[in-house]
Amino acid sequence: MAFEGLTARLQNVFGKLRGKGKVSEEDVNDAMREVRLALLEADVNFKVVKQFITKVKEKAVGKEVMDSFTPGMVIIDIVNKELTELMGGSQSKLAKANKPPTVIMMVGLQGAGKTTTSGKLAKLLQKQNAKPLLVAADIYRPAAIKQLQVLGEQIKAPVFTLGDQTSPVEIAKQGLQHAKDNNHDYVIIDTAGRLHVDEELMAELHQIHSHVNPDEVLLVVDAMTGQDAVNVAEHFNTQLSLSGVVLTKLDGDTRGGAALSVKAVTGCPIKFITLGEKLDALEPFHPERMSSRILGMGDMLSLIEKAQSNIDAEKAKEMEQKMRTASFTFEDFLEQMDQIKKLGPIDQLMDMIPGMGKMKQTKDLKVDDKQMGRIEAIVFSMTKEEKQNPEIINQSRRKRIAAGSGTTVAEVNRLIKQFDEMRRVMKQFSDMMGPKGNKKAMK
Ligand code: GDP
Repeated sequence: MAFEGLTARLQNVFGKLRGKGKVSEEDVNDAMREVRLALLEADVNFKVVKQFITKVKEKAVGKEVMDSFTPGMVIIDIVNKELTELMGGSQSKLAKANKPPTVIMMVGLQGAGKTTTSGKLAKLLQKQNAKPLLVAADIYRPAAIKQLQVLGEQIKAPVFTLGDQTSPVEIAKQGLQHAKDNNHDYVIIDTAGRLHVDEELMAELHQIHSHVNPDEVLLVVDAMTGQDAVNVAEHFNTQLSLSGVVLTKLDGDTRGGAALSVKAVTGCPIKFITLGEKLDALEPFHPERMSSRILGMGDMLSLIEKAQSNIDAEKAKEMEQKMRTASFTFEDFLEQMDQIKKLGPIDQLMDMIPGMGKMKQTKDLKVDDKQMGRIEAIVFSMTKEEKQNPEIINQSRRKRIAAGSGTTVAEVNRLIKQFDEMRRVMKQFSDMMGPKGNKKAMK
């Protein structure tokens, strides 16, 4: 996950400051020296680091901070605000045309994730009840058109193509007309990329631009390439005037330098980030939430939004009822795990809960997708009867379940014990709440 090293180092620096009742100028200087190193190690552009440290220092040595009862906390707050500012201040939303369709032109180098991001963006728009049209204008990369068609099929979004023998400009023009004729409210044009920025590519993008007059020109860059991504963004921006950046592969970028430098270097806001290959791994970019994640303070807002758009409300209600009546079985347990998995990799979810990221680093808490997989395997190896009546799972059944799931009897024992404990707590809770959830008088 992005920012791993940075978060750990910053937490270390601030841990030292937080405990202090008084902070001297020297303490601030020491802390800022470490923050500077941490940012440079995270591959943040050195000019950006310099400006950042100067700003934070100016504010942190002020009288109000020094006189405060909790100077360490005030300094963390200053860093939080400056980091947020560095990444653009507040969320930069996708533009919407006054008269539909809104035209979005996706540009970027080959392999950055342009085609997959086009699909992800279409899916996100569909979730908002929009009707996007994907336009396949990358006629050079073999299989790019097919790739977009496959993505379109997966999300049930139409893909406009004229094959690879028509010019990209013509495809874009006709695609836009097709969208107008068929009442699409968004058109996402997947343009061609190159291995490097070159004149031919820019000329073609210019031509498309002048014919379709896009509301958004989104540059897709690979976060894993660090400062190269920032250079590419700067290059594209001078030639094409971008409206926003999509930072891809943040799941594999442990440093995070591009995310912290793009806005400051190019002036162009990050509008979306992608965190995986799955089609729902695209998130709107919120600078304040990202800053909070970097500082290890979690991001509950994004987690709640994810839950709201992914969890089946009916099922959640049914599950709550079962919990109340303590009729929760291993079958329900499996279903609940399925719901949680819809929210994304456990590792990423943990980073959104305040304090969890740190616990993960210290290995106090080890919950990952692999472990979820083992738990699932154990439950899958139970018979229907065992899932419904866990009480009957005796020693010989446990041995069979362990062998069947490729786990150990100790793991099976642990899971059943945890499950019993969970049911016991639920029962206590429901007894306390009464049959209709009315709170009984507690003695
Ligand atoms: P294009 O040449 O810019 O159109 O790039 P593609 O859309 O074909 O993506 C290149 C590769 O990057 C594919 O294998 C994608 O699955 C992968 N990819 C794209 N976005 C992400 C992401 O957020 N995380 C990860 N891990 N892989 C991604």
